Amino acid sequence: MKTIQLSSGQSIPVLGLGTWRMGEAIAQRQQEIAALQQGLDLGMNLIDTAEMYGEGGAETVIAEVIAQRRESVFLVSKVYPHNASRRGAIAACERSLQRLKTDYLDLYLLHWRGSIPLSETLEAFQTLKQAGKIRDYGVSNFDVADMEEANTLPGGEAIATNQVLYNLQRRGIEWNLLPWCQQHQIPVMAYSPVEQGRLLQNRTLKAIAQEKGVTAAQVAIAWLLHQENVIVIPKASNVTHVKENRAALDLKLSPDDLQALDRAFPPPVKPVALEML
Ligand code: NAP
Repeated sequence: MKTIQLSSGQSIPVLGLGTWRMGEAIAQRQQEIAALQQGLDLGMNLIDTAEMYGEGGAETVIAEVIAQRRESVFLVSKVYPHNASRRGAIAACERSLQRLKTDYLDLYLLHWRGSIPLSETLEAFQTLKQAGKIRDYGVSNFDVADMEEANTLPGGEAIATNQVLYNLQRRGIEWNLLPWCQQHQIPVMAYSPVEQGRLLQNRTLKAIAQEKGVTAAQVAIAWLLHQENVIVIPKASNVTHVKENRAALDLKLSPDDLQALDRAFPPPVKPVALEML
């Protein structure tokens, strides 16, 4: 699997496995475990989760998946903004580690900005890193002003990534956030790469996919993988979807394909506030 190097020197796979909506229903559990296992078997060795997903349920699903192969997985979790205080973030991380049945996270993110001062969260993240509980830390749903502010705070320079909404239909970050992150060598993790399935109904995308003999999801994911310094984390509970998403890594889009996609999904022509799901 192709990787991107974080500023700490750690390597992160460019294509991983999202887990939002997992761990919410017992009836789905075996299917979710099978899908994540399939993804790892195919080399998608990055799992993205959060204490929010299934209120800890997704982390308990993941515990079963990684039990026999923790070292080969790049594991990401996130802290709720209301837990992200100096002490609260440390306690939240400990709870995530317990649910995940592991003793470290590869990356720990602030899920979105809340009212707790960012300086406190960064202090907690540094403490967790020094204690070996997390190998890297970062943020999510941060726009340029938030990134600039974080960058001025102690520990802000070590922010490893910013996880944001980015897909063909949501290209606003190309105006200034993506260039800002690229200049600061901070990879962007693109969440909801198929817009939670809604993008797949787009007529133009379907037509482009059909012409190439692939699926709309594969074109959408391959397009993101063609962007510089971008990591993509589609969520799939269905094994067939996982296989398709993995195959998107090998899908080459030609300059003509990229132009056709630009016509169908134009890049921003003015600043756009960061969108969130
Ligand atoms: P997504 O990955 O864009 O879409 C997931 C949906 O698409 C699921 O319904 C899935 O169906 C379907 N799907 C996946 N692959 C498919 C394929 N090849 N063909 C057809 N359908 C396919 O949306 P997301 O879950 O919102 O985003 C991905 C991950 O990003 C999340 O799971 C989470 O880890 C992260 N995220 C982070 C934030 C944040 O605030 N930081 C916000 C949103 C998401 P099945 O499940 O049935 O396979």
